[in-house]
Amino acid sequence: MANDTKNFKVSEFACKHCGENKIDQKVIDIAQALRDELGVPVRVNSGYRCEKHNAKVGGVKGSFHTKGLAADLSCELGAAKMFDTVQKLWRQNKLPELKYCIYYAHKNFIHVDCGKQRKNYFEVRT
Ligand SMILES: [Zn+2]
Repeated sequence: MANDTKNFKVSEFACKHCGENKIDQKVIDIAQALRDELGVPVRVNSGYRCEKHNAKVGGVKGSFHTKGLAADLSCELGAAKMFDTVQKLWRQNKLPELKYCIYYAHKNFIHVDCGKQRKNYFEVRT
C-alpha cells in the first residue's frame, strides 16, 4: 500500500472507473519530486487503471497504468515545461525510479512510467 506525500493523496491515483487502486509508491514519489520543482499544483489525469478502464480509454493492452506503474500528469504551466523539468531532474539523478516519459504535445500532458526501460527514456508524441 502506498502512502500520501506532501501534496498528493494516494486516492488521486485510483482508477477513475471503479476506484480500485494499485498505484506504486514510486509513481507518487516522481509526481511529488516534479511538483516540488515546478512549485505549482500537478493534476493526476490518470493513475492506476483497471483492465476494463484501460481498454475503455484506449490504453495499450498491458499498459503500465494497469500495473500501477504509470501516471499521466498536467499542470497550469503546460506539459512542455513539465517535460523539460522531468528531464532536468532525471539528469540530476533525482528520479532514479523513472524508466520512461512521454510528452503528449497536443493533449498537453506527460506520461511518467516506472515499468521497463524503453529504447529512449524520453519521447515526444503529437
Ligand atoms: Zn476501474
